Formats: sequence, structure tokens, C-alpha cells
Amino acid sequence: MMWVGMGCASSWALDWKFRFIDHVLYLKRVVIGRGKGVQHLVYYSPMHHISWSESVWFSDIDDTLINTAQTTFEASEGIKLVFSSRFGERVGKKIQANFNDIFRTMVAGLRNKTDADWFRSGVDKEDYERVLSAIETYQREMKQQFGSIRKFSREVFIKLSADTEGLDTAPETIYEAADAYWVTLSERVQVMPGVLDLVREIKNHRRPLYLLTGSDARLKIKPNGQFAYMPQESEDFKRERVSLLRGKGINFNVVSIGDPEDKPHLDFFTKGVKAAENDLGQPINLSNAIVMGDSYAADLQTPIEKMGFGLGVLFEHGKEGITLDSEHQITTGFLADAVHYVSE
Ligand SMILES: [Mg+2]
Repeated sequence: MMWVGMGCASSWALDWKFRFIDHVLYLKRVVIGRGKGVQHLVYYSPMHHISWSESVWFSDIDDTLINTAQTTFEASEGIKLVFSSRFGERVGKKIQANFNDIFRTMVAGLRNKTDADWFRSGVDKEDYERVLSAIETYQREMKQQFGSIRKFSREVFIKLSADTEGLDTAPETIYEAADAYWVTLSERVQVMPGVLDLVREIKNHRRPLYLLTGSDARLKIKPNGQFAYMPQESEDFKRERVSLLRGKGINFNVVSIGDPEDKPHLDFFTKGVKAAENDLGQPINLSNAIVMGDSYAADLQTPIEKMGFGLGVLFEHGKEGITLDSEHQITTGFLADAVHYVSE
């Protein structure tokens, strides 16, 4: 598979960050020997090949196809209004600020891998761990029942925001605030750059697009204060939210939702692939499958490392250019770049 091999000991090669070469070759550096006379073998290896006619497309939704993180700050206005009407505007504003802090912290936890990532994100890893353990405290019973917690339940975020202000909040206030948030979030959905171009290309080639999305985790509060999870209700809610995407030009075949198995669990992705195979009426050779998402750990790792997906596309909002990370992965800020790695 090695196309070109060359010896090189100069420092530019060391600094080379697996950058774009010509859309189909990525740079692989192998260091042999140490100290004086070190040799760096540089190979230009081909990206894994996928043909249009065999390609099957899978994508995450939130912060990959639509800008949920940005819209969430606008949608938190609804939370502020609900709390302002009960406790006055000063409290309403505080709850909104707390909610947004929690959201930002949890998104950082979803995306960050290295210490450098944490530094860049401006969020303390310790803060993330503190918020996560507070979330877990409210979901102990749920964890026993389902084996895992729901990290992104907005009801829990709102409850924690109210706890911080020392408010004893009625469950109805929390549900009402969460509803207000979701209604605004759904109404103001913004499609990410490059998405409509990509969807058009996929459809022009008569290939399918399947959505793989995590649970929105609509939870209820039990009399003992623990949060309860009804997978079917949660799934129905998300299905309705996702169906609105068609009106925005995102024409997908089938959506698979993380209730109760969620990302990054293998069962979640297996369920998604099965749903796609049912829709296509034939098995999928996963080496022809492309998966797109904004979190390596949540969206890409399992499909690439455990299931043999041909290509993972990591979407990084605002990124310029394309980084070729491996034979099976690119990073881009323009999702339609993915088509450069699929050929006739
Ligand atoms: Mg996402």
C-alpha cells in the first residue's frame, strides 16, 4: 500500500502535522532509531478508497448538521422567562447563566481529549468532573436500571442551576422551562456550513443518508428527587424534533435515536446500521460507510475502531482547511469536504 517511501531527517518533517497533500494521500511518519543520525521515514499513504456507488452515509445531528450549541444560548432565554415569572428577573437571569455554564462545561467534556484541548476550551477539567458527579447524584436509580446516566438532560441542567441559587423548585417549573427551551431550540435551528451542499451531492448520487443521534433525555422527577427516564417518550420527542430537519433541506432516510442505548456504545451503532440495512433491503459493507460527527469519542471512535467504517469525518466548527488524520479519518470545518474522499 505504501506509495512513496523516503528517508528524511530534517525538522520540517517533524513539524509536519499530517496536513493535506492532494486529497487522497495522507502523510505517515515512522521514526526509526534515536539520537544522532535519526531517520524519519515519510510515507505517503493512500486514504481508504470509497466509491460513490457503494457509499452509505451516516451522520450525527447536533453540532454536526445543525448548530445546537449556538442556538442553545438563545433557547436559554425561555428558561430565564419561566423562572423570572416565578421568582423575579434577577433570579431568572442567574438560572439562565448557570444553565449556560453547565451546558458549555458538558460540551467541553464531550469534545476534549487531551490537556491541550482542555486548555483551549477554557473549561476546567475539575469543573467538568464536579458537574458530572452532580448530574450522577440525580440519576443513581436510573443508572441502576439502565446501566448509564443521561449526561445531556436539560431538566437536570435546570435543576442544578436552581440548586446553585438555593431554590426549591417544583417539578412543573422545571418541565415548563425545559419545554420553553426545546421549543425555541427547534424553531431557531441553524444548518451548519457545507451541510446542504453535502446532502445535495449525496442525493445527486442517489445514495442514502442515515442519522445517528443521541438521546435528548427528557426526564421526569420522582417524589424522592431522583430523575426518571422513559426511553420511548424520550425517543418520540426527539423523533419529532429531527423530523423538522426535512423542512430545512436535510433529506435523510432513517434516523436512529440513542434511547435507551446511546453513543458511544457499540449497541447504539449496531442498531443504527441494522435500521439502515432494513431500509436498503441489503447488508452494508461497512468499509464503504462514512460517519460524520463533532466528537471523536462519541461519534467516530466506535464506528472506525470497532466496526470498520471506511471513513470518519470529524466536524470542527470554524476550522479552515482539511486535516488528514489517518487513512480512515479527516477533520474539516466544511462538511461537504467529505465528498473529496469518495470517487466514481
Ligand atoms: Mg454532536
